[in-house]
Amino acid sequence: MTAEVADVRRSVAQLKALVAQAQADSVDWTADDVAAWTAEHFGGGRVAVACSMAGDTVVPHLIAEHLPGVHVLFLQTGYHFAETIETRDALARAAAVTIVDVLPKLTVVEQDAQYGAKLHDRDPSLCCAMRKVDPINSTLAGYEAWVTGVRREDNVLRAHTPLVEWDEGHQMVKINPIAAWSFHELLDYATTHQVPVNPLLTQGYPSIGCAPCTRAVAPGEDPRAGRWAGLNKTECGLHVAADDDTTEVETTFVSALQTFNLTAGLGSVETSPIDQPADVVATSSTSGSGSTEATAATSGRRLSQLKELESEAIHIIREAVTELERPVLLFSGGKDSVVMLHLAAKAFWPAPVPFPVLHVDTGHNFPEVIAYRDAEVARVGVRLVVAKVQDYIDDGRLIERPDGTRNPLQTQPLLDAIADGRFDAVFGGGRRDEEKARAKERVVSLRDEFGQWDPRNQRPELWNLYNPRHRAGEHVRVFPLSNWTELDVWRYIQAEQIELPAMYYAHEREVFNRDGMWLAVGEFSQPKPTEPVEVRTVRYRTVGDMSCTGAIDSDSATVADVLAEVAATRITERGATRADDRLTEAAMEDRKKEGYF
Ligand code: SF4
Repeated sequence: MTAEVADVRRSVAQLKALVAQAQADSVDWTADDVAAWTAEHFGGGRVAVACSMAGDTVVPHLIAEHLPGVHVLFLQTGYHFAETIETRDALARAAAVTIVDVLPKLTVVEQDAQYGAKLHDRDPSLCCAMRKVDPINSTLAGYEAWVTGVRREDNVLRAHTPLVEWDEGHQMVKINPIAAWSFHELLDYATTHQVPVNPLLTQGYPSIGCAPCTRAVAPGEDPRAGRWAGLNKTECGLHVAADDDTTEVETTFVSALQTFNLTAGLGSVETSPIDQPADVVATSSTSGSGSTEATAATSGRRLSQLKELESEAIHIIREAVTELERPVLLFSGGKDSVVMLHLAAKAFWPAPVPFPVLHVDTGHNFPEVIAYRDAEVARVGVRLVVAKVQDYIDDGRLIERPDGTRNPLQTQPLLDAIADGRFDAVFGGGRRDEEKARAKERVVSLRDEFGQWDPRNQRPELWNLYNPRHRAGEHVRVFPLSNWTELDVWRYIQAEQIELPAMYYAHEREVFNRDGMWLAVGEFSQPKPTEPVEVRTVRYRTVGDMSCTGAIDSDSATVADVLAEVAATRITERGATRADDRLTEAAMEDRKKEGYF
């Protein structure tokens, strides 16, 4: 049906004042309170609810409880699954809502006649623009406010979604009544109130869009992997007003940029207490930080040293994704990989991180690191691939070392996982300050068909020009943090407020001393009779195999404490705490030649 909206639209100033008052009042509001507020201020056709007819059908029901007849906007692209249309019709029966089919200018038949059949296969961005973006933009213009189903737990970048906000892109009020809900709360509401949800959700379709552009995903796969699968597209676009299932808008993008201090690529420069301007003017930098530098150059501003590093790393990540087909990010739960994942999330926001993460699991992990890994992967919303050393030992492909150390056994599972996943770019958190073999390595480093590295045959890297060319079977390792130091990493963790496993900070632990390192007492690292056990206050500078990763005496309980400690230390974290790097002078280089990260 055609939407009927209020005749007189209030001014932007009036609407912003409403938002400001709501934000001040809404600290303890429930979803029902938000719905009541919506009805009080936006009755009479001033508000519309955007609904994809997936799991967000609870939102129209919630609003309709206070505002019967509320308009529910459904992007009728002409390409929906039958189940989606059935859900729309079931919602119309189950709730006191007025469904408004938002129609594109052209029918599918007309579009086919003008642009050829299956435009979605050839130019999905154009197809989405005509069938989704333009229609929703023009429809929303008739309202003062719109309601979405955005939830804070959707992904990390929605973590601070307010209940009520000002939508700068549409110049209207945006209301997110279920922002604080968990998925279980959503299901509880649907069950209690008998609200229909799309049955495809339980049939392998966690994200539901148009039928030609949506496939089911496998268990463990990225929930959005089924959208535009095989095409270089994950969302309707940065400047899209509303996606069919996410109801993503520019305001979400902008507020997330503020929340996450996203500066790379946007020219925004913020300075934290430790983030002082570098001596180098951005215009003369050779760090390759791309558009941020360009913006800084034209504005005459300086990037801080930390911002230059961030911008360079994001540039490297984007370059690799652009140039290569199947990247993967090595993720151990250690601080460098955590920072890399944070940078990757920034690099592609609001799209999800467009590659999975890979953990080579020695089986001798610190339990808190595995718990952290799983929580972090879930929070960011990336797919986790795990290659297990234990599997190789169990079936005889690898033999347990006499010393019980498994770090050197990681190479084969890593190379097999790269081959199995047909990954052609592997992001690693290696830094040049860590160790001398890593200091030699390029930002983009070729591995031959056996996964091996030849330190005598490396490609030149001039300025920010990287060469990822490789033959079939070869791949490249990519090190976005090459130019960072351990101190830089900690400064960045402080500036971005990145959470790490608790073992990075001072805590009491049972340890024993071996070769000058404090090893934790645990299932995989037992003291010899000559190694007395002590309870000491320690922390870890790296995360690795429990049997060969040492702790250091430390009282550093906060990031600021760690920063002071790292600034004063003269030994790198690998030299100080990794037994496997002490085996020979060239232990790391030997392993890297074989294919280790
Ligand atoms: Fe077209 Fe696919 Fe976009 Fe639907 S999701 S509008 S079919 S490109």
